[in-house]
This record gives sequence, structure tokens and C-alpha cells, in this order.
Amino acid sequence: MQKARKLAEVCLFGSIKKPLTYHIPDELQSPDLIGRRVIVPLGKRKQLGVITTVDVNFDGQTRPIDSLPDLQPVISTADLALCRFVSEYYLASLGDTIRALLPQPLTSQLSQRVQIISREKLDQLAIEGNALAQFVQAKSRGRSMIASHHLQSYSRAAIEKLIEAGVIEVDWNVQTTRLKEEDYQVERSEHTDPEMELTSRERDAVDYLSEWGIADLVEWRKTHRLTRKQIQELAAAGAVRIAEKPPFVEPLKPVTPREFVPTTAQEDAITALNSAISSDKFEPFLLHGVTGSGKTEVYVAAIQHAVKAGKQAIVLVPEIGLAQAIYLRLENVFGSSLGLIHSRLTARSRYEIWNKARSGKLQIVLGPRSAIFTPFPHLGLIVVDEEHDAAYKQASPAPRYNARDLAVYRAQKLGAVVVLGSATPSIESYYNAKSGKYALLELPERVDGRDLPAVEIVDLKQSFEKKGSGYLSDTLIAEINGAIEQNGQIMLLLNRRGFAPSVHCYSCGKKIECKNCAVALVFHKGRNRLMCHLCGHHEPYPDKCPSCQSNLFLYRGIGTEKMEEELRRRLPEIPVLRMDLDSTRKQGSFREIYMKFRSGAAKMLLGTQMISKGFDFPDVALVGIITADTTLELPDFRARERAFQLLTQVSGRAGRHNFPGKVILQTLHPTDATIALAAGHDFKSFYESEITEREELRFPPFTHLVLIAIESKDASMAQTVAESLGEQLAKSLNKLCSIQGPIPAPIMKLREFFRFHLLLKTRSVRRVTPILDEIVNAKELQNNRNVHVIVDVDPVDMM
Ligand code: ADP
Ligand code: ZN
Ligand code: ZN
Repeated sequence: MQKARKLAEVCLFGSIKKPLTYHIPDELQSPDLIGRRVIVPLGKRKQLGVITTVDVNFDGQTRPIDSLPDLQPVISTADLALCRFVSEYYLASLGDTIRALLPQPLTSQLSQRVQIISREKLDQLAIEGNALAQFVQAKSRGRSMIASHHLQSYSRAAIEKLIEAGVIEVDWNVQTTRLKEEDYQVERSEHTDPEMELTSRERDAVDYLSEWGIADLVEWRKTHRLTRKQIQELAAAGAVRIAEKPPFVEPLKPVTPREFVPTTAQEDAITALNSAISSDKFEPFLLHGVTGSGKTEVYVAAIQHAVKAGKQAIVLVPEIGLAQAIYLRLENVFGSSLGLIHSRLTARSRYEIWNKARSGKLQIVLGPRSAIFTPFPHLGLIVVDEEHDAAYKQASPAPRYNARDLAVYRAQKLGAVVVLGSATPSIESYYNAKSGKYALLELPERVDGRDLPAVEIVDLKQSFEKKGSGYLSDTLIAEINGAIEQNGQIMLLLNRRGFAPSVHCYSCGKKIECKNCAVALVFHKGRNRLMCHLCGHHEPYPDKCPSCQSNLFLYRGIGTEKMEEELRRRLPEIPVLRMDLDSTRKQGSFREIYMKFRSGAAKMLLGTQMISKGFDFPDVALVGIITADTTLELPDFRARERAFQLLTQVSGRAGRHNFPGKVILQTLHPTDATIALAAGHDFKSFYESEITEREELRFPPFTHLVLIAIESKDASMAQTVAESLGEQLAKSLNKLCSIQGPIPAPIMKLREFFRFHLLLKTRSVRRVTPILDEIVNAKELQNNRNVHVIVDVDPVDMM
């Protein structure tokens, strides 16, 4: 009789989406196989994956697992359960989900290594008859390192014994990813050997550092005309130190931030959070605090409390640029036990944060959405700052998760506390608070008794009728001059970059569109080109209209570039800075603009929504919203919510410290309800009106949405597939959801793909997704390479 084979399910990191079954050879048997990485045969090649299930039943042929590259699991059972949830809920493969969780070096071929840290102790143990020590001694043949798979047949206990005895260390062998020079700086070294032989150029370069301490690597190399090889030699000899640049602009406030006496409202919030943290139970909170109410202080106090109780904390921010205030406060308290994830980190540093977090060397990780997966052993607190922000949703690739929602899910599974904070909570979260699902904490006032800024609405129509006024109304100009007289600063929001949002032919009226996308090209005067803001395509300014050959064109609308020109013309004596994607593309330019404004060297800052969030400039007396209408007009059921958020956030930049703030809000719809409520800082009434409509129209939070996009370069094929998919879904899902469409997507063509949308509304995503999975992952559809079907659960981007 054949011995029953032990079988395992393995998720691969490659293109194969379904888990595959392999058998486990006897020599690889171990009690902790789940979550371990494996190398398995696939066709003629080897592939890396993770064991997700053992003791499975399977009748077919199986091949054996090749090897286990590591000595321990890379993913805990709790986190594997999280992956399962993400994969099922968001309809992504388990392999893709696990890959999103692990730092990149571990999903490519890398094995652990065993490093011998004390040869002496090793020899000693070997003499005493320790079998593993003898084996390592023999295998290493005098080298300090061996690959860990050699130890496969030894028990974990035996290996741990050697680790505890300080004989060996086991770690992943993560190579330094290639040095991207701009990300580094060069520093003076204390270990410079004065006797070291240097060329005169090298001497100059080293002397420069001993005088200045620090330099940008690229600039330093160029100024002193050194080769990369020379720099490596200098670093290797200890003459200089190469280090990654710190992630932020240098602290602008004193490095030791002020300690505050919390306000009563802050105190109440902190008490509630701290007692929840101490109770070791899941408790979700919504912290609704107006702009400038001191939410950061509340987070910091709760984090301190969690860490004191021996737990770890994750702090999510929508963009890392917003993290400066929190970072400075935490860094001051926690120093090196704070890990920061930002987009300029190398793969190696990311891996290091992951590894330090799982081994308990870090207590806090601060970062954007992916930080939600930090593998802390005793996660006690998750903070989601600006919880309403769309950036928490991963658009692509799969899994298309929302980190804010996963924060609540993960906290629940781990018995942790989660706090979602915002001045303008999402309708969904506020509904959860009102219905008792989350505890509501409120900071209704600004600290130090400062008032929220007064908002004045200006009718743009009237301004347009006046000759020479246009987007700069008389009221706005007068207020700008008034602010300057008091020596205050001014921030102006115009949420459109470029010079003119569209260019039209004068004779036939056609607007010039992108050749890849169904949108107007935006004129960028600085580059004298037309650009597509969706796909990046750009082309020279046209000579002739493509339809009628006329050579006269008209611009429509206004972007930041044109507004900057207008401001210089109308207010020539007030220097203006522009902050948008174009002006900050160059390395260091964001910082330069930020510093110039911060230092007061410039009085006026014009920008897109980039300037709306987080900034805490003390001297801003006036905020001008050039037009409030850009967001309101989008075809999205959340358009009003987004507009309310943007207007509130940007208004909140005014009057934070030294001046009472004032906001001028210009609009073509001065009587619009959303605009009036934003002007009155009236979140609660806005919520009430919005929630009523959401309920009537069966939109979230009363249902969940699933958006299915069907895309193809062939328009009629996209439509045909969308229609047949729609029919199938109607047949199988009509009891579980309502189905709208297919209709052409609001952006009907994107990057050459024609797009159709199907929208499902359901009360139970978890009942819909298994059926949906079968339909969209059916063979015929998967095999049709000319059509992509993308499923987005709880979508944020409806375009
Ligand atoms: P929010 O995130 O709610 O907009 P912040 O946390 O940025 O507000 O705080 C606004 C400003 O008030 C910051 O400059 C902060 O340092 C300061 N602040 C916070 N708490 C207090 C307090 N209790 N007393 C005085 N100032 C405070
Ligand atoms: Zn024309
Ligand atoms: Zn385009």
C-alpha cells in the first residue's frame, strides 16, 4: 500500500493565479510549514511561492516541493488570514495579495543565510558533541556564512539553540539594490585616517566635508570631479560616509517640539483612547476635529500610551508629505524605534523596516496605505489620519484594497484600537459613528480659542461681467491687498494645472483631444505643448486644426500657469510662488517653494490641491479659492463630498496662528447648498443632506458598490463583452444586487482602451464576490487577451 502523501497548497508569485498542490517530501516535513516560502518546480522552471495550506486532499498527480529557502515562516497565520480576506473581498488572487504584503526582495529569489558570529563558540559546541555545530563547522569550511537550506533537516529547536547561544544568526540575504545616486548624501567621517594617501582632488573633496559636514552626493561628486569608483574607495576606507538622504525637509520648528497642555476636548479624546488601549479589546473610534483642533496631539498621546503598554502602532497618512508634524513629534519621543515608509526608500530599506517590525525592534511605523500590512507581533493601535482621503484606496494593481477599511478589519481581528481622524470624515465613517459602530470623539474648536476663518462667497458671474476682472474679482484683489498691508500671507487654490484646460478651433469649434484618451489636451505655455493629464501624451502646439485646417485657436478656462501670469500682471508688486505637479517635478523644488513661503520670503502661494492639506503656516491671513466649481461638476456620486472636503481643508489653512483667518470663495454657483455649507463650516448639516440622498438612491453606506470595467482597444468588442457580461451577471446575481449598465465610462477612452462600466449595488459583498469571481474568471473571458475585465470593490474612482 502506498503511503499517504502529505500535500500542501502553494501560492506562486508569478502569473499563475490559482494555488497549486505539491507534495512535501519527508525531509522537508516540519510543524510550521504554513507561511513558509518554498521553491517549487513549474514546468521546466523553478518558482518561488508561499505555502498557504497543508493537509489538503487532492487526487491528481503532484510534484514535490523543491526546497524551503528560509528557516521560518515569512507570514504569520493571522496575516495569512488577513490575506485571505483581502483576496476574497477584493477579488484578487491570494498570490498577488501575499506579494502586496511582503517586501519586494522576498518575492524574488532570495534565500536566508546562516551567519557564523562566533567561530570560537561554534568550535566549542562542536567539541562538546553538538551535531548541528559539527555540521555547520564542516559545511562552512572556514567561511563565515552558509546558505540556510543546508540546515533543512535539522530541527527548529536545534537551530534556535545555536542562535540563543550567540553562535549563528539567520537573516535574509537582501542585496543592496542599485544605488540611485540622487537619493544619497555624503557626510564627514570621524574615522578619517590622516595618513591615508589621497589624490589632490580627493583631498579637496574630503576637506570640503570636514568643513561643511554634509553634501549632496551628486553635487559633491561633480564639483570635485570624482569618479564613482573613487567615491566607493573613499567610503570603503572610511574617509567619508555615504548615507540615504533623510526623507523630509529639515525640521523647520525647533527639534524639540513644544509640550502642550491638552485642551479639555483633547484630554477627553486621549482618555477614551487610552482606556480602550488598556482594555486589550477591539474598539473603533472616529475622531472628528475641525482644522487646527490639535488632532495630531491626540494621536501622539495614544501612541505613547500603546507603546508604554508594550504594543506597537501603525500610523497611516494619505501622502507622506503630510507626515512631517507627526514624524517630528514621534521621532523626538521614540527615536530609532520609529520606522518611516516613504516613496524614496530603497527596496532594501523597506525590507529592513518590515524585518525590524516583525522582530519587535520597531514600535511605530508611519507611512502611506501599504503600511497597514506592517507585521507587528503585538499591534495595539492603528491611526488613520485624514481618513476620508481617496489615496487610501489602491487603484492598481490588484489587490484594490482600501487601507482605511482594512485598518478597521485588522484591528478587529487582533483586538486592537483603531482611530480614524478627519476634519471632514467620509459619509461612510460618520454614518458608522452615528449608528454606534464607531465611538465618536469630537474636537469642535480650534486650540487656543482661535476661530475658524470667516468665509465670504463671491459670485464669479458678476466678476466676469465686469471688464478686466475675470477670475480675480474686485473683492479678492481688495482682500489680497488688505492681507499684505497687515503683513500676512496669502494662499490661492486653483485645482487645475497648466495654462488652459482646453484649446478650441476658432472656425469649427472642435476641441483638440488626446489621441489615446477621450479628453481635451491641456495647453502648457511654459513648455509650449499640449499635454494629456491622463496618459502623459504631449504634442507641439498645433499649426492647423485637424478638422478644418484653420490656424486660429481659442483657449477655454484657466489653469495655475495662466493664473500666475494674471497675478503678476494685476499685482506686480506682490511676488507669487506656484506649487503644482509641474513646478515641483524637479528634485528639491517642492522643498524650495515650501521654504520660500514658510520663511516669508514670498507672500503669496498659488497651487492645486497640493496646498490644501496639512500645511500649518502661521502667517496665512487669507485663503482665496479661485473657483470652487472644478470638483463639484464631476460625474461622481461623491462629487459634493469631495468638494466639501477640499473647500474645508483649504479654508482650514487660514488663521491658524498669528492672524484671524479669512477665506474668499469664488463660484459660479453662489447659492449651491454644498458651497454654502462649506462656507459655514457646517459638516453636520452637510452630512444630514448627503445621507438622506444616499439612502434614497441606495448608495454607500446603505449598499456596497462593485464597479466592473470592461476595456479593449476595439470599441465594439468592449461593448459586446460588456453586454454579455451584464446579461450573465443579471442571471446569476439578480437576487443579490442591482445592476446598472453597461454604459460607456465617464472617461470613455483611456490610454487607447475603450471602456465600459457595469455597476453593482449590493448589501453583501461577501455573497456576491464568489459568484462574480466565477463569471469574470471564466476561461473564455480569461483567454480573450483583447479584453480586460477589472473588478473594483468599494470603488473610490468612478471615472
Ligand atoms: P489638526 O491636525 O487638527 O488640524 P494640528 O494637530 O495640526 O491640528 O494642531 C494645530 C496647531 O495647534 C499645531 O500648530 C499644534 O502644534 C497646536 N496645538 C495642538 N494642541 C495644542 C494645545 N493643546 N495647546 C496649544 N497648541 C496646540
Ligand atoms: Zn477647426
Ligand atoms: Zn491621453
